[in-house]
Amino acid sequence: MNYLISFTVGPPGSGKGTQSPLIKDEFCLCHLATGDMLRAAVAAKTPLGIKAKEAMDRGELVSDDLVVGIIDEAMKKPSCQKGFILDGFPRTVVQAQKLDEMLARQGTKIDKVLNFAIDDAILEERITGRWIHGASGRSYHNKFNPPKVSGIDDVTGEPLMQRKDDTAEVLKSRLEAFHRQTEPVIDYYSKKGLVANLHAEKPPKEVTTEVQKALS
Ligand code: ADP
Ligand code: AMP
Repeated sequence: MNYLISFTVGPPGSGKGTQSPLIKDEFCLCHLATGDMLRAAVAAKTPLGIKAKEAMDRGELVSDDLVVGIIDEAMKKPSCQKGFILDGFPRTVVQAQKLDEMLARQGTKIDKVLNFAIDDAILEERITGRWIHGASGRSYHNKFNPPKVSGIDDVTGEPLMQRKDDTAEVLKSRLEAFHRQTEPVIDYYSKKGLVANLHAEKPPKEVTTEVQKALS
């Protein structure tokens, strides 16, 4: 496939951020993760970050207009010329409709939706053990995917951090937002026959194999 537009959807901790960079490398796509972009904006205290921070801290979704704006801008990057893998977007049916409209204006459409299906019960351990490299969004896990040196990013040697919203308490609101606002997005694209259902509870390598099959 020469040009590919795909996105990952699933609850927090289901493995979207772990698999998306692998997909990006294999298919030469650009990886657009709205959560990473919003965290960078919060850290830099930009007007966008200031608007988004409160909802993010509470584990709620930020407004559709904010995220649609950043995706619209990001999709114009030259690195996106072979297509892109969206990670964490769209997360509401309104975002999905806006995305379809943006793509239609460019004469393209979504090729595949990767649904990281997983039981909620598995997610607390994944989320509370997650460590990230803020600048790249690379994620590690103290048990399932430890860095070579504890607390240090394998690639840059910089320190890892834990996300403010990666607590058992905030996870509850994030899961509630997922079931109420994001699951309907899966139904929306299922009706279009675009959804590949993955077994996201399996070990990372097995999930990668499922993703490769879904995209080939
Ligand atoms: P998401 O982007 O969907 O929120 P991540 O990819 O960041 O989730 O994964 C959440 C945590 O679980 C990370 O610490 C990651 O290292 C770990 N993880 C990712 N995929 C798996 C897997 N298949 N099995 C076990 N742990 C995983
Ligand atoms: P994530 O890194 O994907 O777990 O996202 C972290 C937080 O960023 C979410 O809990 C939301 O507050 C916000 N966010 C990320 N992507 C979106 C989106 N597409 N729509 C609304 N809010 C988002």
